[in-house]
This record gives sequence, C-alpha cells and structure tokens, in this order.
Amino acid sequence: MRGATLDTTTLDQQVPSRPCSSPGVLCGIVMSMTKKRFIISLHDVAPPFENEIRAQLDALARIHVHRCALKVVPNWHGAYPLPAARSLIDLLRAQHEGGSELILHGLEHRRRGALRGPLRLRLRGALFAGDAAEFLTLSAPELLRSVRWGRELFERADLPVPSTFCAPGWLVAPGSWNALTEAGIRHVIGMFTVYDLERSRRRYMPAVGYMGASPVHEAGIRLGNRLAWLASSHSTIVKIYLHPRGGAQGEGFRRVLAGVMRLIEEGWQPATYEQVFRPDPEG
Ligand SMILES: [Zn+2]
Repeated sequence: MRGATLDTTTLDQQVPSRPCSSPGVLCGIVMSMTKKRFIISLHDVAPPFENEIRAQLDALARIHVHRCALKVVPNWHGAYPLPAARSLIDLLRAQHEGGSELILHGLEHRRRGALRGPLRLRLRGALFAGDAAEFLTLSAPELLRSVRWGRELFERADLPVPSTFCAPGWLVAPGSWNALTEAGIRHVIGMFTVYDLERSRRRYMPAVGYMGASPVHEAGIRLGNRLAWLASSHSTIVKIYLHPRGGAQGEGFRRVLAGVMRLIEEGWQPATYEQVFRPDPEG
C-alpha cells in the first residue's frame, strides 16, 4: 500500500467484516480455492473529464489496480467526438494495452427526446438519471443508428471497437436486445447484471459505488453500498462503479477506494467484464 494516503477510518463503516461460514482450516482452503474478483468500472470517460479520470486511474495504480472497465462516451453531449480527442485516445490505448477494457457507454449521454418505456423505467430515469437517460429516449431504429455510430467513432479513433454496451444510467428500453445485437453488441451491463445476448444468460453481481449526484441521492447509494458489501461476502465477484466528478479527491471516490483496498487485503483480484464472460473459468 505504499503511496496510498487514504484515510481508512471510513472503511469499517462501509465494509462489514466477512465471517467465513466454514470453520478453521477448512475456511482457509475454501477461500484459497475460490477466486474472488472485483471489477472497477469508470463511467463517463469523455474529454471534459479527462483530468479527473487520469487522476482516478493514477490513484488506482498506486494501490496496484491496473485493470479497469472504461465506459467511454464516444460523443459527449454531441460536442466531443472521440476521434478528435487525441490525448484521451492515447490514454485509452495505453490502458487497453495494460489490460483494461473499453465499453460503449451510450453515444451522447443526454436525453434526445421524451422518456419511453414502462412507467417504472420512466420514473427511474426521471428521478435518478437526470439528463443522462439517453437510451430511454430512443426508438429501436434510433438506438441501432446510435450504437453503430458510437462503435464507428471508436474505429475512426483507431481504438478497439467495443462489443460490450452500458447505457447511461443503466437505462435501456425493454425490447432493445434485437437492435443491440444487430448493432454488434454481445454483452449488456446493467446496474447489478451482465447480460450475454448470444447465450441469453444473465449474471447478477453486487454493485458498490457512487454517482457524484445530490446529497440525498448519494445517501441512498451509501445505504445500497452497505447491503452490497454484505452481499459480496457470498459472491465471487463484485462491481465497483466510479464517476469522474470530484476526481481522486472526491469524498465518494476516497470512500469507495478504501473499500477496494480492503478487498485487495482479503485477496480479491482486479478483473474486467471480458474475463468474467470468458468460458475459461481461470479467466
Ligand atoms: Zn454515465
């Protein structure tokens, strides 16, 4: 942990102790045989937040986490096309070469019309996603065009073209699977799920993180985090989601990073979604 300067006093509040259900030596054997992995998922990777993202990646590297899932918005708010963002492209290429994966995170990350879909989704979009619920505002043909264009922007930037998709706010209208498949997407990431479109298989995982949203919203997320940390003691995988607001000095980032440090001390290893999807269990 050399170089890490985090205040870990908040750690115990966030990460409940994890009693092993197996006694004594057996507990140690079970723990050593079970590979436990965490996925660090950085949202809103886009030119306006490049400095914050670099600072967060540096902070993660200082605790020896070099492998992340980077959720890239290829044309943030319609004003920041990825191929024009030379320094961000260099960062993404270096990160990919170091083992990180690039994920398509919407196209513009803003609403492009009225919210669609069932009431529960529209409410979730209105209450929690603000202007970000882009993929709750698109028809199937618009979704198809948007995902294709987003992937093409990666190609024009000479970056690996993602086949994994995460909608802004994790919100995508039901019935979008065919259009996503047609656009070249193979896996869709939800807040607590990863959906394999080819195999029609869904995998659930606890999710811990922060949004950089209003104090009330963040208080609700912290409550969810406590439950997710408890759930993680029964899981072999946990997702850690981060947002760029506040960079590496933000309270949310520091709190979550302290939890990641605890996971590392317990023997958990960083991974990507790609590794989780792989049929090879050794990933
Ligand atoms: Zn986002």
